[in-house]
Amino acid sequence: MTDLIIDGATVITMDTQRRILTDGAVAVEDQRIIAVGKSHEIKQKFSAETRISGRNKILIPGLIDCHVHLAQAMIRGTADDVDLIPWLRDYVWVLQGNYTPEDGRVSAELCIAEMLKSGTTSFLESMIHKRYGMDGIAQVVERTGIRGCLSKLFMDWTGYADEEAIMYEGMIEDPQECIAETLSMHNKWQGAADGRVFIWWGARTPGAVSPELYRQVADLARKRHMGITMHLGEVKEDVEYTKSQFNQSPAEFARDVGMMGKNVVLVHGVWITPEEFPIYVETGTHMCHCPASNAKLASGIALIPEMLEAGINVCLGCDGGPSNNAYDMFREMFLAAVIHKARTLDPLTMPAETVLEMATINGAKALGLEKDIGSIEVGKKADLVLVNTTQLNLAPTYNPVSNIIYAANGFNVNTTIVNGQILVHEGKLMTLDEEKVIETARERGQKLLERADVKIQSRWQRD
Ligand SMILES: [Zn+2]
Repeated sequence: MTDLIIDGATVITMDTQRRILTDGAVAVEDQRIIAVGKSHEIKQKFSAETRISGRNKILIPGLIDCHVHLAQAMIRGTADDVDLIPWLRDYVWVLQGNYTPEDGRVSAELCIAEMLKSGTTSFLESMIHKRYGMDGIAQVVERTGIRGCLSKLFMDWTGYADEEAIMYEGMIEDPQECIAETLSMHNKWQGAADGRVFIWWGARTPGAVSPELYRQVADLARKRHMGITMHLGEVKEDVEYTKSQFNQSPAEFARDVGMMGKNVVLVHGVWITPEEFPIYVETGTHMCHCPASNAKLASGIALIPEMLEAGINVCLGCDGGPSNNAYDMFREMFLAAVIHKARTLDPLTMPAETVLEMATINGAKALGLEKDIGSIEVGKKADLVLVNTTQLNLAPTYNPVSNIIYAANGFNVNTTIVNGQILVHEGKLMTLDEEKVIETARERGQKLLERADVKIQSRWQRD
């Protein structure tokens, strides 16, 4: 008797041959996939306590969001259509700088609920401030059943830009406290919750961290086999900063201070040039593409097809509530598939298959978890998502990969499974009370706005 069988589905395996099975089935036992094949074969060999019908559904590996700001879910839509400096200085930093650990917990629940319901099973959170209560956030990951890499931010400077972009006081942290908290979180949480929690280092961008601190953290990460993530080359000013201060490109600077390697995920890369690509390839550094955030904040369009061509492992991320403003990987996949075609004037650029790889197997590699997640294969953890095709926007389904990338959205997700545990069943969250999550986020968000004295701008009169 196995734990779970899903049968009758169109299975996009993402295995090494990229097989797609019609009328396919998957058997799960002890958190892992023990068989993948045609439904009649699997049903002959196994019986299960729980059976889920995959009829009229597409089964895909759980989506992997490699760039998430959990704390920003609760400040969704607070700073739309404004320039980057005021975006940070007048809204995002001020709001985040007024967070309490309770706000951090509530925002993490809101964010994780949205991710699970839209088919994200693993994520990399990039910068947790001590204000957000990292311990409480780890508890939310444990309780909700999702798989999460949680990066504690570290910094020792207040930002590179001119006087007017100095970081909000509430966002500044002491470097040695950052290190101490990260190490103690690592001792306490690494591998906890059946191996679903991972503790990473979340570097602030060059300009907010000294080369010495980068090097110190790089050493600690190597010794402890920990991951590091950092925003790099997001805006033009990032290039000007490393050029003027160190006479280096962002990638050269990152390499020299230890912020490159197989355990490193660098985010955005909008202003990374082809001359820098070999540094990523040689060091095995991963690139996380966030097309929605880059487009909305008018940062630009990263050279993603060119990076893939050069051999860089590129994954995908939704970024945050004020920059995207949703945590729905289907939206992100769609945009990643179309935005580069518009830029290159070539419809063969970024085919649907490539984008699905970025959201699954490439994400798994970026997190150093490709042995466990990223595809539907025997021996891997059962992180699975069923997409319901009996919906207007998915009818008809001639090519399942095409529909997943170009037509689907998060609301088409019917079932989300992590570690063999059903977390979303028939579109309903099993480990969170959805109504309560929404209500609490509304209440606390309103109080936060008042406490931080931030007024939401509208171009139209609102009575
Ligand atoms: Zn970000």
